[in-house]
Amino acid sequence: MRRSRYFSRARHHADAETLSKLARRMSESGSRIEDRIWERRLVELINDRLARGFDEVIDAALDDLATNHAGAYDDLADLAESCAESGSLEIEGKRHEGLLIALPVLAWSRYKLPSGPLPSAVVDNAAVQISAHLAARGARCAVADTLYSIDQLPESLGEVRDVAESLFDAATRGQSLKVDQKSLREPILMLADSRYLLAAIIVPEGTPVYHWQESGVDPDSKSAAEQAFAEQLTGVLAPVMTGCRYRVLAPNAFHAALRFGDRELRGFSLDAAVSYLKLTYELLPTSLQATIAAYENKRDRPATELRIGISRADDDDAVVEGVVWPLLGDDEEQATEEVEAAIKRMGIHKIVTHAHRFPLEYCDDCGAPMFPNPSGHSVHTEPMEDEGDRPTSPLH
Ligand SMILES: [Zn+2]
Repeated sequence: MRRSRYFSRARHHADAETLSKLARRMSESGSRIEDRIWERRLVELINDRLARGFDEVIDAALDDLATNHAGAYDDLADLAESCAESGSLEIEGKRHEGLLIALPVLAWSRYKLPSGPLPSAVVDNAAVQISAHLAARGARCAVADTLYSIDQLPESLGEVRDVAESLFDAATRGQSLKVDQKSLREPILMLADSRYLLAAIIVPEGTPVYHWQESGVDPDSKSAAEQAFAEQLTGVLAPVMTGCRYRVLAPNAFHAALRFGDRELRGFSLDAAVSYLKLTYELLPTSLQATIAAYENKRDRPATELRIGISRADDDDAVVEGVVWPLLGDDEEQATEEVEAAIKRMGIHKIVTHAHRFPLEYCDDCGAPMFPNPSGHSVHTEPMEDEGDRPTSPLH
């Protein structure tokens, strides 16, 4: 889908350097007036490179800033994400703005979680709910006809821009977006995971995007609107989420929604693991113990994630279920305390927290993460003796 044209290495380098320079100056700016000038120049350059399919220039600038210029990195990343997920377009001779939004849904099931094409009634109903509860009056909306897993979503800035433009185009024509299902990867099997719907909202330039931004509407009505939307979308999705427990989260602009989804998925997954053991094997939280350990990529680096192994209270070796808790920039110590508190809230009182780090390991056969056991080893989860029909259990 991406355009690939000849672009000299020297030009690429010069462009990345200009972006990095502008972002550094912007991060030092002390006023809105100065900010706006840097921002305008950056947005112009970013939009031009995205439109021409040269988003690797932006990635190169971000790489350059990542180590020594955290403030400038954040500014440039914010702008680049915002440029990729929004756009300006002309409809009937009038300037309009489009925003790509994502609707996160957390789900768990002992069966395979749904993903892929959505029935047209579901797509149409989702669009109706976006118009009714989220978008400003008179906005044009379109929904993509796919339930995406996280690894099926557009990844690079250029891919995000492509999907946004396709959805803006569909919204302009008053249609839904038909996604080529062959272009989507097969999702990794997980007990609990996130799913996303993608949609676009288009409004006349400079006017409110969301309903709660309109004049005469209380800005605080936002949470009630999001709640009403979540309730309605829960009903709309029921036919595709059979056999799942699921929770619709507040929608947001594409990148913000993904970050929120990742964050919320952590506690949800822990809950799902404990509920699964209870419902499927009648293992009550009081008969379980949890082991927490930090896993890292290399020595002397901050841990990249916490992993939680769940075992029977009387077995210090076998791990029956595991949960990955990515740190997402959080402080490791605080995150560990948060995990401990969450485990206790679920009724598991026996908790082992290992002080030593484990290498970030996965099973060579099935790619599943390894989890810590109470005796201090990193092990593969073991299917329960009376293993039922859960398809995700490893057979090796
Ligand atoms: Zn395996």
